[in-house]
This record gives sequence, structure tokens and C-alpha cells, in this order.
Amino acid sequence: MQLITRSALGWPASAAPAQPATKGVKVHYTGTAVSTALASDHARCIALWKDIRRAHLANKAEGYSDVAYNYAACPHGFLLEGRGIGKRTGANGNQALNRTHYAIVGLVGSSGLTEPTDAMLGAIRDGIELLRKHGAGTEIKGHRDGYPTACPGGPLYAWVQGGAPRPGGPTAPPKPATPKYEPYPGESFFMKSGKPALGKVSPVFTAMGKRLVAVGCGRYKVGPGPTLGQADVDSYEAWQRKCGYTGTAAKWPPGPTTWTKLQVPNV
Ligand SMILES: [Zn+2]
Ligand SMILES: [Zn+2]
Repeated sequence: MQLITRSALGWPASAAPAQPATKGVKVHYTGTAVSTALASDHARCIALWKDIRRAHLANKAEGYSDVAYNYAACPHGFLLEGRGIGKRTGANGNQALNRTHYAIVGLVGSSGLTEPTDAMLGAIRDGIELLRKHGAGTEIKGHRDGYPTACPGGPLYAWVQGGAPRPGGPTAPPKPATPKYEPYPGESFFMKSGKPALGKVSPVFTAMGKRLVAVGCGRYKVGPGPTLGQADVDSYEAWQRKCGYTGTAAKWPPGPTTWTKLQVPNV
């Protein structure tokens, strides 16, 4: 995080009222034209942020005690401190909304510079994470959520609606693919008191039996079905012999190697 503090900006401590906790953070844009020259001149970011504060302090109708936002984020990835941590915002439209969410403004506007850079999105994300460590809940919303305004503009709002992901950050790990085959359930699944668990009921036995039939080892007169029977045992032992096992190695219970090779589907 590249934070530029109030003191670095030459500002005194914020006189904004305390707000130790909120439901989360709302994202804003400036709502005005922003010069495209900002993109290549960070000094202009600082100047714009100071201009915004000056305009807010001069707004007698609103009676702002400070720049309205908790933080700003510039196109170069800097997080610029506004009211900062633990302060009620003045940016969300009314007192009730100002108490429910902190406010971060991306330094893009309604014309000129309108597209946030990845660095800016990263800085907004930095601000969200910083505020979350200090009382912000997990919500991330746009100003227009719950208030009639175009803020934060199309590009930032689309990003917010997409969950405000950190650009280039780790994406959500892919969901593990559903295992194709039932892992070997373990010897105790098949045996009881050292003998085949005849009479045990499980859909696994039906799935297993169908595969045994498919590989030409079925020894069934009826079925296969969910109740483990001698035909299942005979069929499986035929399969283990087919796989090259002999003697006791071919006897029930199924071994992990032949089980995997049989490709019993998940049930
Ligand atoms: Zn706004
Ligand atoms: Zn900048």
C-alpha cells in the first residue's frame, strides 16, 4: 500500500465526527470532469485532492468539517488520506447513509479521465482493506446503491458489482473438479469382523456391481443391487484375478489399485 497521509498533505487532524464502525465501504467518483493529464502527472493528483477538500470546506450549505471522503485513490496507485480511519463520511447523501458506510473516491470523473487504472483499483482495494481492519464491515457498494446519483460512474460501478477484485491479484481458486471416481472407501467399508460385510447396504455396491458387469466380471444372477452379496464378492474377485492378482491377493476385499482401475463412479 502506498499511503499519503494527511500530515504529508499538510492537513491538520480531521475534525469529522467519529464513526467507529460501518457495514462497509462505498465507492465514489468525483462527479465532475477530471483532466486526462492526471494520468501522467501525479502532482496533479495531489493538487486535485487538495482542490476537492478546499471545495468541500467552502461549501457552506453542507457545512463540511473536512473533505467528505475517508480516502481517495489516484491513477498511480496511491491511497490519499481524507477523513481517514474511524471518521464518519460526508459523502453518501444523508446522515443515515453516512453512518452505514465509509467512503473512498476514485479520482476519475464524469468526463475526461473516466476509466480507473488497475493501480487505482488496487489502491481502492487497499483502502477497503485498511478500513476493514478498523471497523468497516464486508459490504462494498457504489454511491448509487440506495441514493439517486450516477456516482461512481459506469466503470467503477461495474468493478464494484463484480466484487471489487484486486487487479492481477489471486483470483478465486477454481473449484476442485468433482472427483471422477469414488476414492477407495477403505478396507473397513468392505469387511466386518474379518469377513465380507455381507448384507451391508450402500449405493456404492450398485455402482461397483455395474462396473464389474461392464468389465466382464459380473457373476450376478440378479442385480447388482445396493446390498452386498456373495455375487458381489465373486464378481470382484474375478476382477482382481483379471488384473493379475492371485491367491489371497485376489480375494475380497477390493484393493485400492483395482478399485481405482475399475472406475466406480461417484454415487
Ligand atoms: Zn459519490
Ligand atoms: Zn497519482
